[in-house]
Amino acid sequence: MNYQQFYIDGEWVSSSGTETIDVLNPATDEVIDKVSAATTEDVDRAVKAAKKAFPSWSALTVAERASYFKKLKQALKDNLGTLADLMTAELGATTRFSHDVQVTMSINEMEATIRAAETYQFDHYIRDALVTAEPIGVVACISPWNYPLNQIQRKISPALLAGNTVVVKPATETPLTALYFAKLIDEVGFPAGVFNILTGSGSKVGTGIASHPDVDVISFTGSTEVGEKLYAAGSKGIKKIILELGGKSPMLLLPGGSIKTAVKKTLGTIINNQGQSCSALTRLIVPKDDLKAVQEELLTQLKDVKIGDPTLEDTDLGPVVSAKQEETVLGYIAKGKEEGATILTGGNKVDRPGHYIEPTVFVDVKNDMTIAQEEIFGPVLTVIPYESVEEGITISNDTTYGLSGAVVGPDEDEAVAIARKLRTGNVMVNEGAVTADSPFGGYKESGIGHEKGVYGFEDYLNIKAILR
Ligand code: NAP
Ligand code: MG
Repeated sequence: MNYQQFYIDGEWVSSSGTETIDVLNPATDEVIDKVSAATTEDVDRAVKAAKKAFPSWSALTVAERASYFKKLKQALKDNLGTLADLMTAELGATTRFSHDVQVTMSINEMEATIRAAETYQFDHYIRDALVTAEPIGVVACISPWNYPLNQIQRKISPALLAGNTVVVKPATETPLTALYFAKLIDEVGFPAGVFNILTGSGSKVGTGIASHPDVDVISFTGSTEVGEKLYAAGSKGIKKIILELGGKSPMLLLPGGSIKTAVKKTLGTIINNQGQSCSALTRLIVPKDDLKAVQEELLTQLKDVKIGDPTLEDTDLGPVVSAKQEETVLGYIAKGKEEGATILTGGNKVDRPGHYIEPTVFVDVKNDMTIAQEEIFGPVLTVIPYESVEEGITISNDTTYGLSGAVVGPDEDEAVAIARKLRTGNVMVNEGAVTADSPFGGYKESGIGHEKGVYGFEDYLNIKAILR
């Protein structure tokens, strides 16, 4: 496949410029391929194509639009291995995680969104008012590198099923998976201009799409820092804005709760994808009396973590996504030491080619330390003790973020009551886990709006009242 092309108006086209960007494998630092950097002219062409396609696409029935997605879902299934391998090469996630979680989750969530669209009630009456939900227009979809397929799927499936058209800009670190997804979309035969994708830097191409006057919605997943910029950019022209941003999520262990479960769930989010998940449980908040037992359990469960070539079946931890990410994560580790936290285990770069960092656990952490407040986005955990459950809840909420969280406790009803007190969009209780159609979205600086299922779908609709 020629990755130097863009997909615009139903065709693979070359950039009007000549600049290219190398795509690197973080496990080896080898160049895998390169992509083109879109110009202002390319951006305009893509947005124009999406605008032109909107009237006819939005006029189709949901069943007609869903028929394309059913084929696309099958194409994802048929190409599961290829997509997983591509993702592992450019992201560094283990093949196991790419295959069993990343791509599989995209298939399941697409299916859930199709279901949400097919069962959605577009018209209803409020007394004499006919209330109807309609597509909005052209959606700019700007995505990060940590889930290279699903962060795009979560936007385009609801946006297109609702009748909008899209222009996608994937992250610069992981454009190949995105372009391969576009190849599948092309093969399914969506009408021209409905889906468009171009590659290039966020500062230029991302900004260009988001601030284009013909764009009606900005749907962004990424850092809070860039989210703030896009919120501002969207104020011009009063664009609708959907933001899925960072997190610093708590795992709150209650007295008498299963230490094993709390540690296992937490480490799952720190090891899988090298801790580069927005919903990672990066603050393990535990009763002071359990601190020693928690530390022992952490060491026990970390003992068998296998670091290495992400393509090998038994590898648990691969490299972080880039040299820049490695530098950021190591910088936070240094900062944690400087601020007086103690390293229980890890803390170093792994001595091998590529950007590997040891699973790192900090203890003696106070919640106001930088490592407990800022998103590190690497395999780094902070353990924070509390005296009373009230204090545990206060610490859990003492963050500018509010994306995810978890509560583990001996009494499930009590744990649910505490889950209600956490100021975050998701809370997992004990063995509870997210599903393909449970809503996902942030409180506070973690975002605006939702993704997945019916709530994700509704974000791409306008509400009209017809009065007679
Ligand atoms: P990022 O730096 O914010 O970038 C995200 C996307 O925005 C990339 O495509 C990027 O392009 C683009 N971009 C950068 N600057 C831009 C600008 N000024 N205008 C328009 N677009 C711009 O985030 P990242 O480093 O890729 O991903 C990590 C972050 O994403 C973390 O903070 C994580 O928590 C967050 N995240 C949130 C969720 C969620 O659902 N809440 C999910 C996953 C990740 P380039 O790649 O060219 O820089
Ligand atoms: Mg970036």
